[in-house]
Amino acid sequence: MNHDDILFGILGNAFHCPVLGEFEFLENVLITINTDGEIDSLLKPDEYAVSDIMEVLERENRLVRLKEKQYLIPGLIDLHCHAPQWPQMGKGLDLPLYNWLANYTFPLEAKYQDLEFAKRVYDDLVQSTLSSGTTSAVYFSSIHLEPTRVLADTCLEKGQRAFVGKVCMDDVEQCPDYYRQSVEKSLYETEAFHQYVSTMSGNHGLISSVVTPRFIPSCTEGLLKELGQFATNNNCYVQTHCSESDWAREYSQQKYGETDISVYEKTGLLGRKTILAHSIFLTEQDVIKIQDYGASIAHCPLSNMYFANAAMETRELLNRGLHCGLGSDVAASVTPSMLRSCFDAVTHSRVREEGTSTKLAAGERGEAKTRISFLEAFWMATTGGGKALDKNIGVFRRGFSFDAVLVDANIQDCDLKIWQALDSASDILEKIISTTNRQNIIKVWVQGREVVCKQ
Ligand SMILES: [Zn+2]
Repeated sequence: MNHDDILFGILGNAFHCPVLGEFEFLENVLITINTDGEIDSLLKPDEYAVSDIMEVLERENRLVRLKEKQYLIPGLIDLHCHAPQWPQMGKGLDLPLYNWLANYTFPLEAKYQDLEFAKRVYDDLVQSTLSSGTTSAVYFSSIHLEPTRVLADTCLEKGQRAFVGKVCMDDVEQCPDYYRQSVEKSLYETEAFHQYVSTMSGNHGLISSVVTPRFIPSCTEGLLKELGQFATNNNCYVQTHCSESDWAREYSQQKYGETDISVYEKTGLLGRKTILAHSIFLTEQDVIKIQDYGASIAHCPLSNMYFANAAMETRELLNRGLHCGLGSDVAASVTPSMLRSCFDAVTHSRVREEGTSTKLAAGERGEAKTRISFLEAFWMATTGGGKALDKNIGVFRRGFSFDAVLVDANIQDCDLKIWQALDSASDILEKIISTTNRQNIIKVWVQGREVVCKQ
């Protein structure tokens, strides 16, 4: 049989979660990847035993054999990351959101007009996120066009699937003089960036442009309407923040007498390709609208614990079948690791379920049955993220892009330890989610291309 269209094959153990709350252990599976970087086949031992494919791949040096205690997982998907805030990570988390933005974020984001600085930071960011297993990232850039191009170029060059947006903010009362643009300039640069991404050579769908109003307080209604119109006309992705904190929610109520979701709907910014970061304070009507439009929520658990003033209703949103994935929300996080986000999402839900006050009786402290499991969190960082982006990623399935992470539990001096006699497949996956360090991630592929190789 002719196997010329097979780029390479990987033989070993793999985990994925095609169904929410469940996992599949693909033991000794052979995954073949075609020249388009898509999964061509997943063959079980009894299937590849009767084919000549192993022999051909091995003879032509196109077979990657995983060792014992090495596991393949789907590439991780970060639905919300602020690229220019990378140097801010680990600073100022003791401040309220408003001061955090004013004291740290806006002065830093304004520096990216220095394109050498932008290149240095974005090189480091994209390398670090890839090394952490993030194969797809949804990035807010800064408000300027040129550094946003640098970010898109860097993602393309390093091979990360990226959804990149030039941030738009124009409200004179809310944005500092040195860090805002007029409606006209915001729109012009949004169009110019969209055009740039559509014509990037070698893109082949890896990089997408995203219409990015920062959030309701930083934008005038006129800007939101123009951006909504542009996104609708061009069928663009949209990303923004939604009802992140008491302050953000109250701002919309005072200015519009409405919720964030109502404002986004009226300005044409709510659609199937809209990614709403946070979405903490949602009304029943908001949830119905998000679901009706097929928009997606990026749950950012660690960030929420610092800035949201309340707990995310992750359990309820998952039960209702909304598109829901995870975001790191760098720099309101102390790591770009999406496995850490999975762990934080579980922790967040457990604190919510149990409650906190020792003055209350056990049954009155928390919100019963609101926890999420490790498998559900992992589903959000893989399958759920893929659904949110409406891309064939996040699961090992024929025809899906081969975006994958190779986790090695044989690394010395790390926390991921597998005890073959003690650990079931379920235990191993939970350990991978909970204890994988960056040094355990030894290879990463995006669209079949090896983008990280530490061996
Ligand atoms: Zn954010």
